[in-house]
Amino acid sequence: MRIDIISCVPNLLDSFFAHSILKRAQQGGFVEVVIHDIRDYAVNKHRTIDDYAFGGGAGMVLQVEPIARCIRALTSERSYDEVIYLTPDGEQMQQKMVNQLSLLGNIIMLCGHYKGVDQRVRDMFVTKEVSIGDYVLSGGELAAAVLSDAIIRLLPGVLNDETSALTDSFQDNLLAPPVYTRPADFEGNKVPEILLSGHEAKIEDWRHEQSLLRTKSRRPDLLQ
Ligand code: SAM
Repeated sequence: MRIDIISCVPNLLDSFFAHSILKRAQQGGFVEVVIHDIRDYAVNKHRTIDDYAFGGGAGMVLQVEPIARCIRALTSERSYDEVIYLTPDGEQMQQKMVNQLSLLGNIIMLCGHYKGVDQRVRDMFVTKEVSIGDYVLSGGELAAAVLSDAIIRLLPGVLNDETSALTDSFQDNLLAPPVYTRPADFEGNKVPEILLSGHEAKIEDWRHEQSLLRTKSRRPDLLQ
């Protein structure tokens, strides 16, 4: 998979992709993440990428030309399955959506800033709009990082234990059961006996039961 992220603050993303699972995923060749600075596609030598909104009002708007030039440069080199704009008024990100996106080959993610991008970018180039929640961030970089992370960890081979991602919350519409590690007794708080029994089938049953209990109490909507 290849993910191209278009941003006007590309440095915000550098560190995020340079550590842990996301770093290993790139080093292992499971994903290529390429970050593009919108300013490199500006139409004037001052590298201007934003302007006042027509009609007035507070806040700058990212202009259509630099973003169009960037997207066209990318699409002239390869085809993309989706051009995703991260935006609070987009479709709310869910695990099911992430599962589907993880099956794609090439994705562009566009990060807005200020008041957002000129509507013509959305009309002409964007194929999918995604929100990471009902709140407003300063820019789309964190949202693109969240979406990329959720996708990349699902790519076959990225997690050490292939089944690990499948037992996380929201797969099968259930929340994950509690997990424990050593010591088995911390200041009198003991790990449930069943987890120390070595009886795999019973442990599986216990985990499923705990998943159901947790989902019923915290997210009953998932069981509808
Ligand atoms: N004026 C926009 C509105 O009210 O919908 C908000 C713009 S926001 C300050 C700047 C950028 O941050 C957006 O263009 C988008 O890329 C990103 N952003 C903010 N909140 C987001 C969210 N919940 N999900 C995805 N992207 C978000």
